[in-house]
Amino acid sequence: MRCPYCGHNDLRVVDSRDSEVGEAIRRRRECLNCGQRFTTYERIESVPFFVIKKDGRREDFDPHKLFTGLKKATEKRDISPERLNSIVDQIEAELRRSGRVEIPSREIGEMVMERLRDLDEVAYIRFASVYREFMDLRQVRREIDQVLSARSRRQQEKQAETARG
Ligand SMILES: [Zn+2]
Repeated sequence: MRCPYCGHNDLRVVDSRDSEVGEAIRRRRECLNCGQRFTTYERIESVPFFVIKKDGRREDFDPHKLFTGLKKATEKRDISPERLNSIVDQIEAELRRSGRVEIPSREIGEMVMERLRDLDEVAYIRFASVYREFMDLRQVRREIDQVLSARSRRQQEKQAETARG
């Protein structure tokens, strides 16, 4: 790497940190010849990782597919595509950080559900019913009961907080 100002290759790294998504490293460098500072972005060679489906098939991880699934689950709910994109980014970054090459699809599904549960209960139930392949209404019912009891727990906590405050 050479200094873009004088072409010298004696450079010093002043500061480096991961970018938001965790796929690029941002480095601030200083040229030891002319003293100019500039920023470089190095993309980490992204190691491909695979999703292992329930039937044992191996597929490339496809963020777009994940996004499509989220979009379907949140249809007609007031959730912006940016929000969904950021969920996809978070999950992808987390999976990459784990350093594993093969990830069971079930695990990714759980990660999505965890985030949807906080975001939108209806979307969560929709996603969960597809993902967990609910066989009957009892399972749907059980899931809804859990969401509702978590909600009332949260409300109680909030009320307790207000009472204290
Ligand atoms: Zn220079």
